[in-house]
Parts: sequence; C-alpha cells; structure tokens
Amino acid sequence: MTGDGAAVDVAVVGAGPIGLAVAWRLAARGLRVVVHDPASGSGASAVAAGMLSPVAEAYFGERQLTGLLLASAARWPAFAAELTEASGVEFGYRTEGTLMVGLTGDDLAEARRLWAYQQGLGLPVTPLLPSGLRDREPALAPRVRGGALAPTDHQVDPRLLVPALRTAAQRAGAVLVPRPVRRLSDLDARVTVVAAGCGAAALTGLPVRQVKGQILRLRAPGGVAPGFRHVIRGYADGEQVYAVPRADGEVVLGATVEERTDTTVTAGAVLRLLRAGVDLLPELAEYDLVEAVAGLRPGTPDNAPVLGPLPGRPDVLAATGHHRHGIVLTPVTADLIADLVLTGVPDPLLAPFGADRFAGAGGGPDRTTEGDQWS
Ligand SMILES: Cc1cc2nc3c(=O)[nH]c(=O)nc-3n(C[C@H](O)[C@H](O)[C@H](O)COP(=O)(O)OP(=O)(O)OC[C@H]3O[C@@H](n4cnc5c(N)ncnc54)[C@H](O)[C@@H]3O)c2cc1C
Repeated sequence: MTGDGAAVDVAVVGAGPIGLAVAWRLAARGLRVVVHDPASGSGASAVAAGMLSPVAEAYFGERQLTGLLLASAARWPAFAAELTEASGVEFGYRTEGTLMVGLTGDDLAEARRLWAYQQGLGLPVTPLLPSGLRDREPALAPRVRGGALAPTDHQVDPRLLVPALRTAAQRAGAVLVPRPVRRLSDLDARVTVVAAGCGAAALTGLPVRQVKGQILRLRAPGGVAPGFRHVIRGYADGEQVYAVPRADGEVVLGATVEERTDTTVTAGAVLRLLRAGVDLLPELAEYDLVEAVAGLRPGTPDNAPVLGPLPGRPDVLAATGHHRHGIVLTPVTADLIADLVLTGVPDPLLAPFGADRFAGAGGGPDRTTEGDQWS
C-alpha cells in the first residue's frame, strides 16, 4: 500500500487521541511519522468525560460495536501501563468500576431491560439492592430504587490523556506540524491516516456528522476528593445522566446527545443535568460549578467508527467516526490501524467497520467545503 519517494512514511491528519495513538504506535515501530493539527486536543476529547464503558454502553442493536468496545477495553490496562511508562505522564486511569442506578420505579424498569440485555450477552452486570448500592456508595440518594455494578467499566481523564499521548508520540520520533490539512493531495507521504474527528468529512467525503454534547464540570469544595469513587450512571425521572469522579475533586456531569452542530450551552440542558445529578447524588448541590461546555462528537450513520482504506484509495486510511466512544476505542484503533499500515493485512476485527459500508452515502470530498474550514 505504499509508493516510493515520499517525504515521510505516514502522515496523520489530526492530533486528538486517535491520531496521536496511531502516530505513537507507528513511530515506536520505526516509521517516519508526521502529525498535522493546528490545535491538538481541541476536538471532542477536550470536553469528553473519559468513561471506558463497553458494558454500560452495550445498547440494543449495536452488537458489532459492543464487540469492538470490549476488545478495546480489554487492551486498556496494558495500554495505560505502557503509556505511563513511555510518557511519564499520569492521566487519571481509574478502575473502581461503574454503578448503574435507577431513581424511581419507572427508571429502574427501563434500566433493568438494558441490564438483562447486557447480561444476555454474557457481560459482567451484577444487580444490587438499594442497601448493597449504598454500602458501596453512601453518597447515593436514599430514594434510589436499585442498581447494578459493572466492575470492568473504568475511566480516564481525556484532558490528561492527550498530552500523555503527544509526549509518547514525540518521544518515539513523531513530528507534530501545527497547521491544518486543507487537501489530502497536499500531503507527501506513503500512507495517510485521516484521524481528524469531525474534520474527516470535508477531507474525505465520509458521512461523519457532528453530534452535540453539553457537559458540566463541578468541583468538591475544600479541595477534597468527591464523596464517591465509582462512575455513577443512571436514570433520574427519565433523564439519563452520568457523574465521573476524579481524584483531584472534579466531577464531570454529562451529557446531552443532540443532533445539532452548534456549541451553545443552554440553560435548559444545564438545568436537566444538574437536576438529574443532584437527584442521584445530593452532595453535588454543594459543589462549585466550574465549567459548562459543549463539544461535537464525530458520528456516522450507524454510530460506529470508520476504520480502514477509503474506497479505491489503499494509501488513505480512515480512523474516524468514533462518536461517543473515541476514548475507550483509542487502544484498539491504534493497534489495528498501525498493523494495517505495517503489514497491509486487515485484522478480522476491522471487517464490520470499513468505509465501503457507506458507499453512496457520502459521494467523495465535498468540494464546496474542502479547505475552507480553517480559513
Ligand atoms: C460531551 C462528550 C462526552 C464524551 N464522553 C466520552 C466518554 O466518556 N468516553 C469515550 O470513549 N468517548 C467520549 N466522547 C467521545 C470522544 O471525545 C470522541 O469520540 C473522541 O475525542 C474522538 O477522537 P478523535 O481523535 O477521533 O477526534 P477529536 O478528539 O475530535 O480530535 C480531532 C483532532 O483533529 C484535528 N483536525 C480536524 N480537522 C483537521 C484538519 N483538516 N487538519 C488537521 N487537523 C484537523 C482537530 O483540531 C482535533 O485536534 C465524548 C464526547 C463528547 C462531546
């Protein structure tokens, strides 16, 4: 899949978690890698919660995606250890697990259907009585009717992960160029990896759409850690919400999923997130509200990523469309794309995620927008 005489072996477009992890893996294996991005880490990862939740996010109708999420989550412990070693940076990798809860009887009924589906897939979901829940997390509201433990769903802090990946990639020899790529034809590389998140649409014509997510950051008063250690996800009077505790006192409370492309923060979304969060974890009412922000997830028509060559372009590999799962999918994406670059042989795990499944949906690069997005 390579031609001769190019300036570098691999050009990576995008220095978010996906592009940087791919660059790290390839540079560590001796390839000359250049990563292009005017604002590394400014995409969806800048607002993401960082849950590594293949079990809690195993939804009806997404079996192939669930398989990839599980494969990536299984790689996270070794990936985290290797990245800490390579970068010298701590990035908040925590393994206490996730508690899934329902506030009211109706919330619990809805949650139980999903837990039954997840258990049917053989996933580790352990139902808990209210007493068992509160033994694990006394901070949960007494009204919470029930829950379940997903012990293998972990978390990481994306705002620390990206600098760690950047350091590891650069230490391995990758070069960062702080400029946007306007056209793929401007690049002089044997292989190009398009890992530009939402920016991939204009460069490739792939049907990557922006999906808005509003999210809040709270901080426990007095510089102490939050009063709970698990990631808490739940239904509260029909609202879905999660609260992700960090060791430094931060709690990430999210997130909306909106089919819109603006990044406005709305009063209604903040109200719903806070109400649902405080209903489940009353102590959050005493926390400082330090940030309200919106980001854009790179979604695809089936909400699964696009991993592999563009149709008819074996020298251009897509690694985009990770939607709500780009942090958990970072290790598997990096490994599979790096192996593909090095061997030219696609891992069987890639088969359901090829760009060809959208043939006809995109229609090639959008000539009206290509090159304009950074003007
Ligand atoms: C509110 C919210 C919560 C989330 N929570 C989670 C979570 O808990 N767990 C999880 O796994 N995922 C979560 N995500 C999703 C996750 O953030 C994304 O899937 C992930 O960031 C995708 O990584 P990426 O590197 O592909 O894209 P991005 O993080 O968007 O990075 C893309 C990079 O490409 C660059 N770029 C774009 N166009 C160009 C161009 N033309 N030239 C050069 N560079 C370019 C950008 O500057 C950016 O740095 C969440 C997202 C949001 C919005």
